Amino acid sequence: MNTVLLDIQDLSVSFSGFHAVSKVNLQVEKGKIHVIIGPNGAGKSTLMDLITGKTKPTAGRILYEGENIAGKEPSVIASKYRIGRKFQGPNVFDNMTVYENIEIALTGYTSIWKAFSYRRTDKVKAQMKNVLDLVQLYDQKDRMAVELSHGQRQWLEIGMVIAQSPNLIILDEPAAGMTDTETYKTGEMVKGLAGEHTLIVIEHDMDFVEQIADKVTVLHQGRVLAEGSFQEVKENREVIRVYLQD
Ligand code: ADP
Ligand code: MG
Repeated sequence: MNTVLLDIQDLSVSFSGFHAVSKVNLQVEKGKIHVIIGPNGAGKSTLMDLITGKTKPTAGRILYEGENIAGKEPSVIASKYRIGRKFQGPNVFDNMTVYENIEIALTGYTSIWKAFSYRRTDKVKAQMKNVLDLVQLYDQKDRMAVELSHGQRQWLEIGMVIAQSPNLIILDEPAAGMTDTETYKTGEMVKGLAGEHTLIVIEHDMDFVEQIADKVTVLHQGRVLAEGSFQEVKENREVIRVYLQD
């Protein structure tokens, strides 16, 4: 059985001659949590832009279950290949409840407003409960999003990604700005998503990386500097050198 979901081969993009991502090779295994670390400007977010179709590569391939998705439209990558992304920082509808925010994501953002026939069927209700439980917001479901803490808003956004039934979930610094307790809780939440989902997580907080990572890839100046378990990467001399320079 093929355990690789995403097989990135010699992927590159340059912006007016600047190599933001340069010949990157990376294999993401099904059901695992693959963490990407690296100093600011290493190319982490750009690599995610390439996977989600926001940026077109200059060269290379992105094989998703063997099919090359490099250069496809973001909407196709999201809906056909079911790759969902949570961006850095919360991005929710402030003046709607937690429930309504997730419901909009679940029903496809527009259909809820367009379709007069929309009903909260038992199936929708069960899906909603499942998502709210996964992000530990069930007891907050009737609160307005604007009233949530920073951490809860981030979890709401993770819930909005999960509601869209992605196979692959990309989280860009999900624990940014959180307290230690919230960060730990986010880690447990992320681990709870693995298995059913595959995850790529960009992160800076090394305790958090240690908590969640099945595999770590270190990017530096657009290239893969090291790859392995958290321990292997932590003890890698090149990695130590790059982080001490920073
Ligand atoms: P990271 O997420 O690892 O901090 P980024 O992927 O955001 O790094 O950026 C990598 C490098 O590519 C940076 O030097 C950034 O300025 C540059 N870059 C990213 N996107 C663009 C773009 N659209 N045009 C020009 N330069 C870009
Ligand atoms: Mg970034």
